[in-house]
Amino acid sequence: MVGPCTLVLFGASGDLTKRMVMPAIFGLMRRGLLSPECRVIGYARSPMDDEAFRERMRTAALREPGAGDEAAWTEFEERVSYIAAEYDGEDAQGYAELARRLAAFDAGAGARRLFYLATPPSLFAPIMRHLTEAGLAGNAYQGADGAWARLVIEKPFGHDAGSARELNAEVTRGYDEDDVFRIDHFLGKEIVQNLFALRFANAIFEPLWDRNTIDHVQITASETLGVEGRGGFYETAGAMRDMIQNHLLQLCALVAIEPPAEWNPRAVRDEKVKVLRAIRRMAPEAVEHEAVRGQYGAGSIAGERVPAYREEPKVAADSTVETYAALKLHIDNARWAGVPFYLRSGKRLARRATEIIVEFRPAPHTPWAHAGGDGDVVRPNLLVVDVSPDAGIILQVEGKRPGQTMGTQTIALDYCRVAQRRTVESPSAYENLLLDALRGDPTFFARADEVEAAWAVVDPVIASWAAARPSDVPTYAAGSVGPAAAEALLARDGRRWYDAAEQIACAIEGQHTHELRRASRRADDDSQRS
Ligand code: NDP
Repeated sequence: MVGPCTLVLFGASGDLTKRMVMPAIFGLMRRGLLSPECRVIGYARSPMDDEAFRERMRTAALREPGAGDEAAWTEFEERVSYIAAEYDGEDAQGYAELARRLAAFDAGAGARRLFYLATPPSLFAPIMRHLTEAGLAGNAYQGADGAWARLVIEKPFGHDAGSARELNAEVTRGYDEDDVFRIDHFLGKEIVQNLFALRFANAIFEPLWDRNTIDHVQITASETLGVEGRGGFYETAGAMRDMIQNHLLQLCALVAIEPPAEWNPRAVRDEKVKVLRAIRRMAPEAVEHEAVRGQYGAGSIAGERVPAYREEPKVAADSTVETYAALKLHIDNARWAGVPFYLRSGKRLARRATEIIVEFRPAPHTPWAHAGGDGDVVRPNLLVVDVSPDAGIILQVEGKRPGQTMGTQTIALDYCRVAQRRTVESPSAYENLLLDALRGDPTFFARADEVEAAWAVVDPVIASWAAARPSDVPTYAAGSVGPAAAEALLARDGRRWYDAAEQIACAIEGQHTHELRRASRRADDDSQRS
């Protein structure tokens, strides 16, 4: 259990605190992983007293109340308070009040503080500066009597490699790198952490995990949602900055990572950085062939008409911001030379899914493959990591198609979903990551050099796209699979994008047919015997 400490939430009146952070804090407490002595201080400009803030947080924390949750919250909320103040400028008087409150809490519990920056990114640096000036930054009192001060920073971390470097410089003025937790909630997902177990705890996968056996890798994050009222923010970001630079490159690094020599934050993150640095920087002339962008037009999702991106509130009528991006990446190292990694992410697409698909090379020789019989098509094996919505790992293999002729059909070996289902209640990604931060374990957080290396991958593409005219950005209909150019990106290589749900359904259907036939054969045998 994490001992007494104080969590200070900057931007506490915002969406993230309400939807993710506070429910995660309360979840940890309910699981007995956080001392009931822990305190929470919300800090934001919105005028609210402690009571109003508690009420707001109560609604958030008890969205789906379980047995005893209401009573537990009533006890916990005594330790929740709020400071209404400016983050920066002449009127930023709140830091003195924060210091006073923390000192009063420390008297009983020791100086253990987690500062969570859940504000717009332009405020990250000013808040850190004020914390340093108020003597609250980590370097100021670290180490005394088990004291610590840690910093959790939300995405986006910078808007290119240069701004990320500047922000990192600001961070290191107040904190040791190991006390900084740049959050990427994908890394907190059980199924994503499972990639390490899959590769390094199973003798069957690692020997196959390279250019000799793997044909290519696809990583997809596809959303049905649009910008959901965050048009102003999205205009400064786009799919490349919002999804690919962080979430998708993190997944890519985990798929491609070399085995860390030991299990500790340094060893794991060293290996991730090596992958990111090995990704070939896209030359301007390559961007045209290996990067795709698009912007959603009007269309329909689940039978409902939705507006075009350019019609969304706070979006320019001639915006060139991409709501879809796809890349073909090359990892220039001995393991992956010649194996393309295709990444894609978009909004307002036909389906909601985050998945990794590893396609293996075809079997070198299948004796009956040219017999012209039924089922002589041998499909490549796929490893499907369904990050969401279902969280599972499925290996697709070919099995004999039941019948008198030799032929195959695809069968799903449901490696992980079954085990996952047995887990009574999986904690949320935010719970996992908050707990790690409170324990001081940054393994599943992005280190400074990692963030900068990830920006270095996308910066050349963003730079090439910067001079776009509105007509340069292809439109795709909301509710479609995305721009045609993304299909062409793979088609040029003789490949196609997979849809994991379709693959799984197909393979399970094959298995089902197999099982039905087996059952009917058993019934036949039984009736002959009797
Ligand atoms: P919000 O836009 O809701 O902002 C959080 C709070 O910051 C607001 O309640 C507001 O509080 C204050 N704020 C907003 N705009 C300004 C401004 N221009 N100047 C000063 N203060 C401002 O953000 P979210 O809660 O959605 O997100 C917080 C952080 O987390 C952001 O960095 C975001 O990119 C990141 N993030 C959010 C996700 C989400 O799902 N919401 C997902 C992943 C990351 P007040 O006015 O009371 O001070």
